[in-house]
Amino acid sequence: MFTPAENRYEQMTYRRCGNSGVKLPVLSLGLWHNFGNITPYATQQALLRTAFDCGITHFDLANNYGPPYGEAERNFGRLMDEDWRPHRDELFLSTKAGYDMWPGPYGNWGSRKYLISSIDQSLKRMRVDYVDLFYHHRPDPDTPVEETVGALDQIVRSGKALYVGLSNYGPEQTEAALREFRRLGTPCLIHQPRYSMLDRHIENGLTSVLRKERVGCIVFQPLAGGMLTGKYLEGIPSDSRMARDNRFLKPSSLTDDTVNKVRALKEIADARGQKLHHLALQWVLRDEVITSALIVASRPEQITDNVQILSAPPLTDEEIRRINEVLS
Ligand code: NDP
Repeated sequence: MFTPAENRYEQMTYRRCGNSGVKLPVLSLGLWHNFGNITPYATQQALLRTAFDCGITHFDLANNYGPPYGEAERNFGRLMDEDWRPHRDELFLSTKAGYDMWPGPYGNWGSRKYLISSIDQSLKRMRVDYVDLFYHHRPDPDTPVEETVGALDQIVRSGKALYVGLSNYGPEQTEAALREFRRLGTPCLIHQPRYSMLDRHIENGLTSVLRKERVGCIVFQPLAGGMLTGKYLEGIPSDSRMARDNRFLKPSSLTDDTVNKVRALKEIADARGQKLHHLALQWVLRDEVITSALIVASRPEQITDNVQILSAPPLTDEEIRRINEVLS
């Protein structure tokens, strides 16, 4: 029986998500890696418990998180029964569909057929009646946005999700989808793009759209898969993601340019008396247009470590200027 820490809500900062009624923790937990069949079940249980004890109320999943596909939701479902059912109303659970999930023409992209079948499957695997948030995981160049957004609207109206969101949509694609959401009367709660010191593409239009439209933003890969911890500066540690499971983080990402930037950023973090990944997390959260940053951890101590940013001094204008200089 899991008894959460009584002081969990005192440790976390919560930001309002766009102009909605929902507040999200500034750090949320992603279940992309570390909840498939290569991570011991006891570690997965400890990761979720530690996160919740730190005030992290938002767990982010997708239909294809694993490996294999579906496994993160399946493991979460088991944990739902063991630990989380008494706390369901304290949790904000998300899942997504948009990447390839099952064979044939109906298990991918953005059709009504795919999205509605997929959420039904996700709810069964996660052993919940509804999710708090359902995303279209990536834009579909071939399906009319009206069909995709119409399916999301139907999912909310049928009670399978309380809110909907978009992920990986560009600024114009986001504006087109938001127009359709408005026409149907279902607000889009949040956008989930990639954002880190090593990938600032959302600053070229997307954040302006989200600010103007008052849509929330939760960013993924704020540590560039771990590169912004500095752990790869002296080679590839045997217990790191790049050594363990490098399907999405390959040694070829460690270019000279990246390594030089990471070294220079580490000097700025050192001068603040701070770890590089703390600086990297504070940096993505420096502007309140970003509601939350998704962290992923391979062991519970990384969560308690990352939560330390909440008591760190904010970045000064001068520090932000020096970081810009390194990144430009
Ligand atoms: P990060 O860039 O935050 O990298 C996480 C990795 O950094 C961890 O696995 C761990 O690596 C390392 N790390 C984290 N904290 C510490 C620490 N304190 N000390 C040392 N190392 C640390 O995120 P991800 O790339 O994993 O992505 C985050 C989430 O974003 C996913 O779970 C998912 O929810 C979401 N996502 C969404 C996508 C989308 O299309 N919408 C696509 C991809 C991800 P190690 O394993 O080496 O210990």
